[in-house]
Amino acid sequence: MGRAFVYVILGGGVAAGYAALEFSKRGILPGELCIISEESVAPYERPALSKGFLLPEEPSRLPAFHTCVGTKEEKLRHKWYKEHGIELVLGTRVKSADVRRNTLTTTTGETISYRFLIIATGARALKLEECGIRDSDAENVCYLRNLADAMRLVDTMQNSAGGNAVVIGGGYIGMECAAALVTNRIKVTMVFPEPHCMAHLFTPKIADFYENYYASKGITFVKGTVLSSFEIGADDLVKAVILKDGARIQTDMVVVGIGIRANTTLFDNQLIIEKGGIKVNGYMQTSHKSVYAVGDVASFPIQLFGGDIRRLEHVDSARKTARHAVASIMAPEKRRDLDYIPFFYSRVFTLSWQFYGENRGQVVHYGNFVSGRFGAYWVKKRRIVGAFLEGGTSEEYEAISTVIRFRSPIEDMAQLEMLGVEFALQI
Ligand code: FAD
Repeated sequence: MGRAFVYVILGGGVAAGYAALEFSKRGILPGELCIISEESVAPYERPALSKGFLLPEEPSRLPAFHTCVGTKEEKLRHKWYKEHGIELVLGTRVKSADVRRNTLTTTTGETISYRFLIIATGARALKLEECGIRDSDAENVCYLRNLADAMRLVDTMQNSAGGNAVVIGGGYIGMECAAALVTNRIKVTMVFPEPHCMAHLFTPKIADFYENYYASKGITFVKGTVLSSFEIGADDLVKAVILKDGARIQTDMVVVGIGIRANTTLFDNQLIIEKGGIKVNGYMQTSHKSVYAVGDVASFPIQLFGGDIRRLEHVDSARKTARHAVASIMAPEKRRDLDYIPFFYSRVFTLSWQFYGENRGQVVHYGNFVSGRFGAYWVKKRRIVGAFLEGGTSEEYEAISTVIRFRSPIEDMAQLEMLGVEFALQI
């Protein structure tokens, strides 16, 4: 038993939603496109799960954050796919793929074939078991990758109201969840091995600002150590976390944000894998010509970094790579290499920052680190390659992204520090 489509998108997350909109804008016929997703809802803006979704009052719920509201475009509800003749195969996991035969097989035993496949399987949360920690399946241990995780986190927060939480991991999931927990009146301790939060991106000076801000909200940081085990109570719930340095922290719940792994397994021996993702060219095309990969699962060349292959885990990259793959498939005569500027953002409490480019080279900080209007540039070979800004206006964010697009040359570092965001606004 099987069905055949011209285009199949495997995965129903952010990239799938943006690819579907692009397909419809470029004109497809009813019955040509199918999206297969393990999740039971139409594609949605995943970042909402650690932000509006966790608010104690008037939390955001679907359908409010279906794609493509993140870029202020049409909100694609279930009915939109139906009206456009796009088959949404939801709640269905693909268990195997045969790239040479152009087929996918689902866990229900159905075979779906395609002329073009877009792999948009995203990533999964890394589990504590994979780091040798037992009992992370206890009911009060939460991860956050999909809607089901988010609903479980909300329930666990409600059961822990007025209590304590330990957040494992100092990346953006840990930081955003810690902020949400405090807003839900739960006292938070954050535990991570690095010397400061957001270690992959922040400089110590930038991290210091956010850590002080978090401390002012009552959040405690335990840095430079890791979780060693859980203490489990008679009710099978985690009662305390034990750290490698021997410390014991009593808790009512745990949130784990220790990184992700791209969902490449279906294609591991069929397509080229690089930097933990499926390797694609500038058209988002894999080593097999009818198969494309986009979003978190794709490792793609970044022109700004001299064509270096990178795998990004950011929503903007998911949206743009998805659109680019569709354009490459549907207008092959006009196709061109993607020229993507890496962009990442986060919002916590009333703070909000954006980052463009890469954080390599010499750093120049500027602005006021007390009032919260500050930023940084990263300079390599006398050119600005990275720009960070907290509390900027849309005009300022646009300006720093332009600086990165042109890799603005810089002669005088002291002047750059003095001008700060003004430097970008003058470009
Ligand atoms: P996903 O959105 O993860 O979608 C993958 C889909 O594929 C899922 O629906 C999954 O169920 C499905 N799937 C996987 N395998 C199979 C299979 N075998 N069969 C069927 N279906 C399958 N980025 C930012 O830039 N800023 C932020 O503030 C930010 N906040 C975030 C907050 C949270 C809580 C999370 C989890 C992520 C956040 N991100 C953020 C990252 C951003 O959401 C991702 O980069 C983006 O979702 C990637 O899109 P994607 O379509 O590649 O993957």
